[in-house]
Amino acid sequence: QAKEQGRDRYHFFTPEVEAASLRRMALEGGLRHAVREGGFSLVFQPIFSSDGTAMTKAEALLRWTHPELGPVSPAEFIDVAEETGQIVAIGSWVLEEACRALVALDPPRDGRFRLGVNVSSRQFSADLVGKIQELLDHHDLDPRMLEIEITERLLLHPSSEVHDQLETLRAMGISIAIDDFGTGYSALSYLNAFRIDTLKIDRSFVMSMETDARARALVGAITRLAHTLEARVVAEGVETPEQANLLAALGVDSLQGFLLGRPMALEAIRGLLYRTGLPHEGPWTPPSGDL
Ligand code: C2E
Ligand code: MG
Ligand code: MG
Ligand code: MG
Repeated sequence: QAKEQGRDRYHFFTPEVEAASLRRMALEGGLRHAVREGGFSLVFQPIFSSDGTAMTKAEALLRWTHPELGPVSPAEFIDVAEETGQIVAIGSWVLEEACRALVALDPPRDGRFRLGVNVSSRQFSADLVGKIQELLDHHDLDPRMLEIEITERLLLHPSSEVHDQLETLRAMGISIAIDDFGTGYSALSYLNAFRIDTLKIDRSFVMSMETDARARALVGAITRLAHTLEARVVAEGVETPEQANLLAALGVDSLQGFLLGRPMALEAIRGLLYRTGLPHEGPWTPPSGDL
């Protein structure tokens, strides 16, 4: 009887669709709560020069545990937060927490080590530059300690707002990385319109590289292109020594992946940074001023 009724009322909804929309509602509510009461944390994944001699960067990655659903992957909840606009508040928390981490890590003020922070397009509409400037001042940090990771999508049809803010960030000395390069909307036009400091080659290329000569050729070509544009190249998702060797041979500057280190707590990355050491010469640092 009840089953019969249920089937009529939810005629168009399969149990899977229903479960997905319930989960979505639970995520939205959970995020709202976490934004107000706290509940996020950051972990840090090391990035090494491809000769393995120095830690050039680390990437800050957001973690969240829902009170009932347990740990939720950022791939899932960042999407929800972007759709609802909650990403602006969450992104501000991430930037603040990343600055606290930089205070603890205390890297040299010359760009030899940078902390990468992922930033969503919506944050540019909420005065990203002002927010970052305020945080750097408040924590007495050097802009050359920061790298902002953005996606290709943001650069495909950039508003003047985005354009101006990216230029200001670079003029301050913050570097700009293109995340997941090659997966979506790569267009040579934006590489011409913007000075990019770092290209992060997506994990999908690294994964297929060993068996696929075309993927290997692409990694080499992307690396040469980047170097011509005075950008550095990071390969993402490096899991095997064979991949690391191949990437180094192709000229990739730095490596990130489980082979070199999982995302870890602040204390752990701090210890690793001081045991590993920093590069002697700073990576290419953007000139301040003229762009
Ligand atoms: P991403 O920025 O490309 O970050 C790299 C992702 O690859 C991370 O996943 C990291 O844990 C994972 N990874 C690193 N090395 C390996 C490897 O060797 N093998 C494999 N299989 N995976 C590896 P995570 O932490 O789950 O983050 C997923 C995505 O969520 C990030 O991709 C980024 O787009 C987004 N995200 C994470 N934190 C933030 C944040 O604070 N703000 C924003 N807007 N997005 C974030
Ligand atoms: Mg990233
Ligand atoms: Mg990435
Ligand atoms: Mg990626």
